[in-house]
Amino acid sequence: MTTPSNSRKPLIAGNWKMNLDRKSVQELVGAVSSGIVGRGDVDVAFFPPYVYLPEVLAACEGTGIMVGSQNASEQAKGAFTGEISVSMLKDIGVPCVLIGHSERRHVYGETLEQIHAKVAIALEAGLQVMLCIGETLEEREGERTEKVCAEQLSTALAGVSRADLPRISLAYEPVWAIGTGVVATPEQAASVHQYVRGVLAGLFDDSGAQSTRILYGGSVKADNVTELMSVPDIDGALVGGASLAANTFLPIIEGALG
Ligand code: PEP
Repeated sequence: MTTPSNSRKPLIAGNWKMNLDRKSVQELVGAVSSGIVGRGDVDVAFFPPYVYLPEVLAACEGTGIMVGSQNASEQAKGAFTGEISVSMLKDIGVPCVLIGHSERRHVYGETLEQIHAKVAIALEAGLQVMLCIGETLEEREGERTEKVCAEQLSTALAGVSRADLPRISLAYEPVWAIGTGVVATPEQAASVHQYVRGVLAGLFDDSGAQSTRILYGGSVKADNVTELMSVPDIDGALVGGASLAANTFLPIIEGALG
């Protein structure tokens, strides 16, 4: 997901969560990869469940589609039953990891410290990171959206060097919009994306902030993606439910280009 400086090519990423089976994974990858042949104007990524990573990596070879894991352990190795390390991901050729998704934060109780440790160990392993941030409804209603996003961002990226910034992309995902069918308005998203880019500039520098992709996530569908993507600071979409079938995901990729 590395982008050349100052060019933020749109990125449409599908987070499959704990969905699909082997057959539907193969069908989905086949249909999406055929549907984007010749499209150099948009990047596409899949975040499959761990067990399907090897075959999705193989199926995506030569298609230009990026593959990432939905999570990784903050521990390097050892007695952590059920966990997957960044070196294991690296070992099987996974280039990227999603960190801090709202379900990890709010369903599994991942802390700011854990997310920071995950970002650090993933970067150290040479992986790319897509870091998710976003406020709950209560935090938005309490006018704490900016404070929450700034805290999530600055704690996760504490100690990250400027040289590693090109391996990071962000996804602003308001928790109240994830899987609810309630999408942030372009104005709401624009305001947070602009703010987050400013925080990034403060943590690193302006050129780093300008070259980092910030995706929007939360109930993105074909009928709202074009309007969202017309916001200058929105550089793509992280899509959950609508990424599970080619007939809903491909129109989002199309729609992202206006
Ligand atoms: C997500 O899980 O990252 C997400 C944005 O889900 P949905 O598109 O279903 O709201």
